[in-house]
Amino acid sequence: MSLSRRDFLKFGSATAAGVAVAGQGVDLAPVEAAATSLKIKEAKVFHGVCPYCAVGCGQLIYAKDDKIIDIEGDPDTPHTLGRLCPKGAATIQLSNNPLRPTKALYRAPGSDRWEEKPLDWMYDQLARRYYEAREKYFIEKEKDKDGNTVTVNRLEAIASLGSACADNEECYLLSKLNRTFGIVYHEHQARV
Ligand code: SF4
Repeated sequence: MSLSRRDFLKFGSATAAGVAVAGQGVDLAPVEAAATSLKIKEAKVFHGVCPYCAVGCGQLIYAKDDKIIDIEGDPDTPHTLGRLCPKGAATIQLSNNPLRPTKALYRAPGSDRWEEKPLDWMYDQLARRYYEAREKYFIEKEKDKDGNTVTVNRLEAIASLGSACADNEECYLLSKLNRTFGIVYHEHQARV
């Protein structure tokens, strides 16, 4: 079945009205197929894997004019059959999101505003503050409940809160870094 955009909208409205009035089951497959074909018409498709978690859901990435225009689940993925969770379904925003900051932003202690800073300045600040906090607050040994001195190698002065925007590899590296420093307050946004 071939539908123009206008036909599709008319058919969609009529179908919605029919469902509302009669409450009967309606075959939506042609509408769904038309919607998909309109959106991705003439786009090139690439196979990918959602970067966010170890489920590794397969994705179909559609691009037109050097721009990603749609990302959806790959129905050939055996363990998901084309499904994506809400986070995976929003991965197009990694590429197309006008609200996404593209420059490093810094808010000084006590300030109520963010200022743009060069990335190198930001890296230096992070390295210096990590180093100073660790030098000052690292706990190498402490007494256990029986009064014995034990090695703990713990740093309680830094807390790490991961982000839902971090992918598998970034989370792995962040965990490694935190454990190397002895950071024990190691959390992720998705669990808060
Ligand atoms: S779609 Fe959701 S469940 Fe699948 S890999 Fe991405 S984040 Fe994980």
